[in-house]
Amino acid sequence: MKKRWRWNERTRLLLTLELAVVLPAAALIVVNAVQLEKVHSDHAIEALMQRDFSEALAISEKHINEKAYGMVKQVRADFPQTPEACSDTLDSLIQKYPYVSHAFLYSPQTGLIFRSRQSRMGDPDFRTEAGDLQHMMIWLKMDYEPLVKKLRMLDKKGASPAYFESGRVRRGDRLLYQSSVYFLVSQPGQQPALGGFAFDADYLRDQFFPEMLNSLMTRNLTEDKGTSRTGVMVHLKGDPEFLAACTDWDGGKPEVERVMEGAFPDLVLAMKMRGTTLKAMGQHFVRMNFLILGGLSLLLAGGIFITYRNVNREMALARLKSDFVSNVSHELRTPLSLIRLYAETLELGRLTSQEKREEYYRIIRKESERLTALINNILDFSRIEAGRKEYEFRETDIAELVRNTLESYRYQIEQHGFKFEENISENLPPMQVDREAIARSLLNLVNNALKYSQQDKYLGVNLYRENGSVKLEVVDHGIGISRTEQHKIFEKFYRVGDPLVHNTKGSGLGLSLVRHIAQAHGGEVAVDSTPGRGSKFVIVLPLNTSAGEARAASVQ
Ligand code: ADP
Repeated sequence: MKKRWRWNERTRLLLTLELAVVLPAAALIVVNAVQLEKVHSDHAIEALMQRDFSEALAISEKHINEKAYGMVKQVRADFPQTPEACSDTLDSLIQKYPYVSHAFLYSPQTGLIFRSRQSRMGDPDFRTEAGDLQHMMIWLKMDYEPLVKKLRMLDKKGASPAYFESGRVRRGDRLLYQSSVYFLVSQPGQQPALGGFAFDADYLRDQFFPEMLNSLMTRNLTEDKGTSRTGVMVHLKGDPEFLAACTDWDGGKPEVERVMEGAFPDLVLAMKMRGTTLKAMGQHFVRMNFLILGGLSLLLAGGIFITYRNVNREMALARLKSDFVSNVSHELRTPLSLIRLYAETLELGRLTSQEKREEYYRIIRKESERLTALINNILDFSRIEAGRKEYEFRETDIAELVRNTLESYRYQIEQHGFKFEENISENLPPMQVDREAIARSLLNLVNNALKYSQQDKYLGVNLYRENGSVKLEVVDHGIGISRTEQHKIFEKFYRVGDPLVHNTKGSGLGLSLVRHIAQAHGGEVAVDSTPGRGSKFVIVLPLNTSAGEARAASVQ
């Protein structure tokens, strides 16, 4: 019946824990792990960062174009309106704007005027570049009409009314990027002329792009996208070697690219992580999250284990308490009925023999003593539990205290048929102890020795000095206590689950009181026992503990 109750309680606890905590927690962990695994296998983090990079590149392209359009606007505002003054004005225009390497003006009436930066003409590469570009301008004659139409359309759409064209120019064994721009130059009373210029390829490589890319890195990319560990560069389409890059660019293969449109067609903007790759970042993220999840799972498992253990302990205590109530009621009832029975018999006056009468009086006294001892134990226990137990330490001859206590019990011991051996050292120094508490501890131990002995009825009490302390030993040849139970018997309410113990009356409080009393004296109580062979309980009281220290030790 009891076993079933216990099992049911435990099952209920396990079920509650499982349903309320373990299941949802496990589900959460599993769902997260699956999600993480999916993120891992889908390369979702990389995809997300790639999308961020693409967005950052789109923003960069927009900024670069805006800047270039602004430069075109400036040149266009200064562009000469009068064809007659063209050569000189184009030269001075080139002088004024360092990013212009060649400027040109074409109108069907006056034909083409093409000027290059004169100071650079000493450079053979530049001279070739100027010659090639001027040569290419021949087609302007054929393409004048469609180009004008296109530019008018762009104007109407509200887009930048300029047409850009990309090209490559040689510098030694490298090709540089060049962009040329065409726009309409209105001529009063005549058809519009086509004006334009070529961005200086060296200027673009050495100044424009490095400045743009650096300012974009610090301003837009880092603030808006959180991509502070990124590097950005531009390269020619079909040529992976970078043309210009931000100062932090650490080489390597770009992760995301964007072919530019607008002012610099066919140029590629490229971006990558510095010192790492998106793949490595993605893997790091997943690994970190798996680690966090693992840590959380461990914490959770630990928490569940502790909760389970605590609840289990509370349940065990509740069980012990209910056993205690029935044990104590039983212990109270037996002596009370004996006292009533013998008192009634005496009252009736039927007993003629004086001897019998004395025996009855003795029984009544003995049973009252048992009752007093039990009630004292309970009272002491409740004081300890409420933290109100106080000890009165007085200088005591401990040998005398032990001897007197045993003396009052001797008759009972011998009457139970026990062989009683008493070994009390003389010359023990006086000690600061609570006499009543020490006597009660001894009686509890003696009482247990009597209760838990069967055929071999032996009781030994030894008091001696050893290593700066006084030891009070109570030895029996009784049923003994198994090793697994030995540390539990000092807990409140605890009684060994042996049937031999269950048939013996008890409250489970005695030893917990003995321990409390020993500790209050700065000492300890220990047990040495073999099942079937007997037990030895030892109270160790330190000799040098003053009453003050002992009292401090008693506060737990
Ligand atoms: P109880 O009122 O049950 O005797 P105690 O706190 O004095 O309570 O003892 C706790 C338990 O320790 C006992 O129920 C018994 O199982 C065990 N025990 C105590 N003393 C002895 C002993 N001398 N021999 C065997 N078992 C003992």
